Amino acid sequence: MTTENIDRVSVDFTGPYKLSIGGRLVETNQTFDVFNPATNEVLAQAPEGSAEQMEEAIAAAKAAFPAWAAMDADERGALIETYADALEAHKDELITLLTLEQGKPRHSMATGEVEAAIFWVREVAKRRLPVEVIEDTDDHVVEIHHTPLGVVGAITPWNFPVLLGLWKVAPCLVTGNTMVMKPSPYTPLTTLRFGEIAQQIFPAGVLNIVSGGNELGAQMTEHPAIAKISFTGSTATGKKVMASGSSNLKRITLELGGNDAAIVLADADWEPIVETLFWAAFGNSGQWCIASKRVYVHSSIHADFVKAFVEYAKSVKVGDGMDPETGLGPIQNKMQYEKLQSLFDDVKANGYKVPLGGTIDTSLAGNFVPVTIVDNPPEDSRIVKEEPFGPILPIIAFDDVEEVIAKANDSEFGLAGSVWGRDRDAAIAVAKRLETGTVWVNEIHIHGIDIPFGGHKQSGMGVENGAEGLAEFTNTKTYMFHK
Ligand code: NAD
Repeated sequence: MTTENIDRVSVDFTGPYKLSIGGRLVETNQTFDVFNPATNEVLAQAPEGSAEQMEEAIAAAKAAFPAWAAMDADERGALIETYADALEAHKDELITLLTLEQGKPRHSMATGEVEAAIFWVREVAKRRLPVEVIEDTDDHVVEIHHTPLGVVGAITPWNFPVLLGLWKVAPCLVTGNTMVMKPSPYTPLTTLRFGEIAQQIFPAGVLNIVSGGNELGAQMTEHPAIAKISFTGSTATGKKVMASGSSNLKRITLELGGNDAAIVLADADWEPIVETLFWAAFGNSGQWCIASKRVYVHSSIHADFVKAFVEYAKSVKVGDGMDPETGLGPIQNKMQYEKLQSLFDDVKANGYKVPLGGTIDTSLAGNFVPVTIVDNPPEDSRIVKEEPFGPILPIIAFDDVEEVIAKANDSEFGLAGSVWGRDRDAAIAVAKRLETGTVWVNEIHIHGIDIPFGGHKQSGMGVENGAEGLAEFTNTKTYMFHK
């Protein structure tokens, strides 16, 4: 492990870390360990917010709401841009802290995540939902306005804590809402830091951060003073959020799991795709909702594709994210590492062909899992049907386009997918039949401030980003005036 990157930012990453409640940085009676997944050593103590502190945070957000909602939208936008500047000033610190608590490589994925998040905050600050005039006649006016909801509860996962957290903060605040955010207990530190930074900029209570256990999430979803829950996490927890949020008919946005298919058609110019699809599948060590989790390759090119894919994969180093040579970091936590162990055992027990990887070396200190490729496992195998959320990928041969479309759609998930082929129209025709919220043709993982993103089927409800994503932080209010 190199220390060169840590020295550059001269910050003590052991803390102390504090909650942000009502504009104050608050200590807790209890703390919990946060581990560095590359070493499994304790990185820092995180504050364990109590139920009373969650109540205080919700009350602070509620008290801050009227003045924040009444503020001119451009004034709110200017404060959010100032927040982007402040985050920029702390960029190196956030990147290193992200690598230390999440595991992703500092020089690539962690830098990319923090930079993208800051860009998002800065750009979303400029977005508005204009008043729409539906009718304006001699005697009658009909207008559609978007009014803020009130207090939004945000609950985030451990795979992209900075980006997915700030994806919620910026649109929530720009539309005039206030927020209480609860990060994953596995990766609370970066969120607590961006919360602290926010307290220097926003009025007290506009953005509150409370870290702690899952029960705090449940407290939020049940709470009558919270108007909306914006949740990113697993489908299983998403269902609980929806059930408990029904108590006061909360608005709910759910960004959940996926099992994305990538379909490489017979005419694809496949050689240059190998590297792209490798990173689409293995980036962030596969801990990615929109990772390509099943690659279907036409049988005429399947064997050559697998060979080239394995060759490329061998060139990527798995290791500590602080090492500049590392391409893929560890699995973020032991719970996920053990789930992967069970999936690896299943692949072994069934004797599937494994041209690369296949065995987890449990003697290593960190949660390291080798890049693993499973060649042509059966369609009903666990590795094809489940979301592995780790660096293991099935590459499956197909003969017929109708057959592969049916297989791609035979999933409870419907997050995203991709189709690759020289004949663009033929590839688009396949893409149009995929039952997913996003589909890419001859490209992958393009996101944008103005591009809505969300899952179909059990991959979610509603969208983030785009005008539609902003609108989900508002009520539609129809005004009618008799002239
Ligand atoms: P998770 O569902 O275990 O946890 C997510 C968050 O929910 C955490 O903050 C957790 O503390 C909280 N939580 C747990 N129980 C709760 C409850 N009963 N009520 C309210 N909150 C509760 O998910 P995870 O393991 O952190 O994340 C991995 C999952 O997230 C994967 O399935 C992945 O595909 C999905 N994900 C989806 C997207 C997307 O945009 N669609 C993005 C990233 C991750």
